[in-house]
Parts: sequence; structure tokens; C-alpha cells
Amino acid sequence: MSRNNIRIAVQKSGRLSDDSLKLFKECGIKFESGGSKLRSISSNFPIEFLFLRDDDIPGYVEDGVADLGVVGLNVLMEHTRKVAIVKELGFSKCRLSLAIPRGENYTDLKQFEGKSIATSYPNLTSQFLLKNGVKAEMHEISGSVEIAPSIGLAEGICDIVSTGGTLLSNGLKEVATVFQSQAVMIANTALSSEKQAILDKLLFRIDSVQRGQN
Ligand code: ATP
Ligand code: ZN
Repeated sequence: MSRNNIRIAVQKSGRLSDDSLKLFKECGIKFESGGSKLRSISSNFPIEFLFLRDDDIPGYVEDGVADLGVVGLNVLMEHTRKVAIVKELGFSKCRLSLAIPRGENYTDLKQFEGKSIATSYPNLTSQFLLKNGVKAEMHEISGSVEIAPSIGLAEGICDIVSTGGTLLSNGLKEVATVFQSQAVMIANTALSSEKQAILDKLLFRIDSVQRGQN
């Protein structure tokens, strides 16, 4: 099935959505968004948008169901995916950090040796700790990670932080940064030359928008 447009997957609703849509609108691309619509074709640029859960985006781009995607580097790097990062987008900046109950003393990473850590990012977390010579037990949970220490599920957590407010209100303190993240544009590694030409045009427009903001 050949298409003469490029298909891009963006998050349907969440912390990447508004800035993703804003970016494409600033690029002069007209399309409908919002409501229950899961697909939208632009009226003035050869691009089709798919609105999906962010976690599904890297897989769709790897498989070629979508040609491009916008996703947090944190979600991309947690799993091994064969996709190309074609642009750092500079929004949805956050970090993956280790945190422990506020009342506990923190000395260094060695403290996590043999401890259990609740996280939605077990690969990034355990790789980081192993690089620092620490072996801890990962407890994978998909959400509300901050509650884990207070209910006895884990001794520490590793989660996405931007201001630290959520940690604070759950009686936790941030003790080490594992990974710095931001939104990136990813592409399938086997784009046709026609699609590559559309991508080049899109990247040129994004560069112009980004230059205007600096
Ligand atoms: P979905 O329903 O699509 O799976 P989600 O709940 O997994 O959504 P969001 O909370 O919307 O995801 O976060 C999407 C991405 O935004 C994260 O993977 C991360 O890259 C980034 N992000 C998360 N929290 C913040 C934050 N507090 N500030 C800035 N960016 C963030
Ligand atoms: Zn998600």
C-alpha cells in the first residue's frame, strides 16, 4: 500500500500533545485535531497525523505503520528500538530520577545495593545503577510510582520528574538523576526517497521555527 504522504504519530492527549500540535501549526501545516478523531490529513502539506498513546509510538515507527513520531526520549530509550532520532524538539523536558523517603539519609548510589526500586523504567534504571556498580531489584509498575515506598512495595523509586512537586507531596526526595529527557522526532530507518524528501522539507520548517524562538 503506497501513500504519497508521510504519516506521523503524535500523542493523543498528555504532556507531549499541546507542544507537538503547536510545533506543526507553527510550521504552517493545517490539520484538524482534538475531539475523538484519531487520524487527520493536512489540507496543505503531504502529511497525515495519527493520534496515539505515546508508549505505542516507537513500535509503530519501527514497524513502518507510521513513518515519523514524536515521543519522549525516556520512552524511546527504555526499549531497544531500531528507529532514527531526526530532531531534538526542545519541549517536554524532564528527567528520570531516583528518590527515597524524605526522612532517610542519602550518602551515595551504593545505598541502593540490594534494595527494591519501583519504576516504569526498569531498563534505564538498572543500566544506570549497574554502570555505577550497584545491583538493585526492579519492581516494574506502570503508574502512581510515588506511592510505592509508603505502602511498602519498594524502598525507593525511579520516576519522571520536572519540578519535583509530586515527589515532595508524597514524602520523597530526589537523590540522583538517571537520564535527561526531552521530546524528539523519530523516523523509520527505511523511508522511501519520496518520504525522505517530505521529511527534509518538514525538518527545514522546524529549523526555521526553532531559529525564530532563539
Ligand atoms: P499516554 O496516555 O499517552 O500513555 P502518559 O501518561 O504515559 O500518556 P504523559 O504523562 O502525558 O504520559 O507524559 C508523556 C511524556 O511527557 C513523558 O514520557 C515524558 O517524556 C514527558 N513528561 C512527563 N512528565 C513531564 C513533566 N512533568 N514535564 C515535562 N514533560 C514530562
Ligand atoms: Zn504513556
